[in-house]
Amino acid sequence: MSLLITGGTVVGPSGSYPADVLVEGEKIAALFVPGGGPDGVETVDATGKYVIPGGIDAHTHMELPFGGTNASDTFDTGTRAAAFGGTTTIIDFAVQRTGEVVQDGLAAWHAKAEGNCHVDYAFHMILGGVDDDSLKAMDQLVTDEGISSFKLFMAYPGVFYSDDGQILRAMQKARDNGAMIMMHAENGIAIDVLVQQALSRGETDPVHHGLTRPEAMEAEATHRAIRLAEVAQDCPLYIVHLSASQALEQVAAARDAGRNVFAETCPQYLYLTLEDQLGAPGFEGAKWVCSTPLRSGKEHHHRDLWKGLRSNDLAIVSTDHCPFCFKDQKELGLGDFSKIPNGIGGVEHRVDLVYQGVVDGKLSLERWVETISTTPARMFGLYPRKGVIAPGSDADIVLYDPAGRTRISVETHHMNMDHSAYEGYEIAGKVDTVISRGTVVVAGGAYHGRRGHGRYLPRGLSSYLV
Ligand SMILES: [Zn+2]
Ligand SMILES: [Zn+2]
Repeated sequence: MSLLITGGTVVGPSGSYPADVLVEGEKIAALFVPGGGPDGVETVDATGKYVIPGGIDAHTHMELPFGGTNASDTFDTGTRAAAFGGTTTIIDFAVQRTGEVVQDGLAAWHAKAEGNCHVDYAFHMILGGVDDDSLKAMDQLVTDEGISSFKLFMAYPGVFYSDDGQILRAMQKARDNGAMIMMHAENGIAIDVLVQQALSRGETDPVHHGLTRPEAMEAEATHRAIRLAEVAQDCPLYIVHLSASQALEQVAAARDAGRNVFAETCPQYLYLTLEDQLGAPGFEGAKWVCSTPLRSGKEHHHRDLWKGLRSNDLAIVSTDHCPFCFKDQKELGLGDFSKIPNGIGGVEHRVDLVYQGVVDGKLSLERWVETISTTPARMFGLYPRKGVIAPGSDADIVLYDPAGRTRISVETHHMNMDHSAYEGYEIAGKVDTVISRGTVVVAGGAYHGRRGHGRYLPRGLSSYLV
């Protein structure tokens, strides 16, 4: 079945131009000068709208077991919410728990996702224990399973933590097999000392989550990860959820030196602050407990991160979508901030929140598409199947209405959360129509997709590495 998208402006990293887009089956078949497409084909009117490749959220945690509970979105609810927000691919983190066989952890993630996703999905692998077996498994996952990126943690001692020797070994393995090492860069050993000291002083409110994870601990770990990657003969390194100016400086310096170092940030670090959200009165701030934490609005993190996005020192905006309900989940940390499950839900709002940066003059239209779709596809081995409006690519297409408005609220969102991190935010723009592999899944605010439409995407190696 064919579909002709007419009258819109196609936007990609290299520019914006009027074109009609022909979809045949699940693929983009051709682009035409306006009016140049075939007759007798079903059409979608995109007049006045941007025609962009579907969003790719390269960092989600559906159903993640964490802090004695599970992230509240399933692959079903989370990918449906993603579709509503113009995201047609997620890359979720499969988990090897400490002591578990890597392939067993991966199989468990496939079991959660298979048949339940509304949009396409891929996996990174979290290594919770680096040893001879898991190092061997890295090769097998790259070769046979389409998993070419591995996340390690310098934080969370006793949970996901890897020490520097383990990190170095995994980096050496990645250097050899072409995979990407993704790093949660915070000095968890030192942070745990600060946490215990705060609790012993009776500082139990959510704001102390942020105060015990200072910027210096992110910058130090980012620096250490970069130097370890250097020792591992320039193993490709991707810093996840970068939140702080000083950490960004480390990434920028490494990139200026020609290193294979990349980084992402998340909407929460571009908009929210330690004082306004995490420091909300009483226990309210628990809604915004995430790691890395929200940073102080008295410093210049927001300004610096937007600048990093423009300069490509920050390549990607992902969400780190890891939602927990306030009731019964965030409340696990009443009286002890260290027991609040870490995470913010945002998979539905990333495309809009980054678009607001275009409206505010902080980002170009082309760079918006690049940071939310094209670069994630290239970074993680999905390009050109995803991330571009071009013949032969999957027909994952969003019609975005710059004249529309989006109001974010728990009353209207589709994520399985009892609150919104962005309650009351108004975006000058709106997701109008969402097409996933040739199927219209969202149109006119109504949902036409289905659970099970989404397919697993085996990935290749990053396009950014030679
Ligand atoms: Zn993390
Ligand atoms: Zn994460």
